[in-house]
Amino acid sequence: MGGHMGDFVEDCLHSSGLRVEPGSEFRCPACEARLDVEGVERWVRAAEEARDEAYSLIEGDGFTRIVLEERQREVYRRRKVLYELRDIPRSVAARPEMILVSYNAAEDAYECRIFYKEPRPVWGLERIEVEAELDSILALRAHPDPNVRLASGKVEEFHAFRQRSDGRDGYSPQRRVFYQNEI
Ligand SMILES: [Zn+2]
Repeated sequence: MGGHMGDFVEDCLHSSGLRVEPGSEFRCPACEARLDVEGVERWVRAAEEARDEAYSLIEGDGFTRIVLEERQREVYRRRKVLYELRDIPRSVAARPEMILVSYNAAEDAYECRIFYKEPRPVWGLERIEVEAELDSILALRAHPDPNVRLASGKVEEFHAFRQRSDGRDGYSPQRRVFYQNEI
């Protein structure tokens, strides 16, 4: 990155959050960095980019999955800081506009991606993974995020459909997209 304003990202993760300072600035109590709203937005984007980088590496490798999950958590943490600073209320009522369920044969699991219209809810999960067996899928019904509960119903539907079509003509669907009118 060079001697550029974004460098603090590598040095300090601002793990204890940011404090509001007079003059519409924010301060990290750990490293004393001062950021304006755009600086905080860049800080969030840096985490999103790091996450996307890990996403492109992911090929069923357990280690990259752990890295990806950690980076995803960092994205949520930074977004939460940003939205709290901006004092934007939680949009818990936001509904997904699309849910993509895909079957990962190597792990015998489903990956479920939830897509939101902007602005997406800060606390909303974008990706869940669940073993391809009914009990694990049903356990998601108790998840605190209403959109995960909603998505679990779609995974259940897809799972049932795959089980019915398995063995018939040797064809079993690998993925299914649910659009808003089906959600
Ligand atoms: Zn800091």
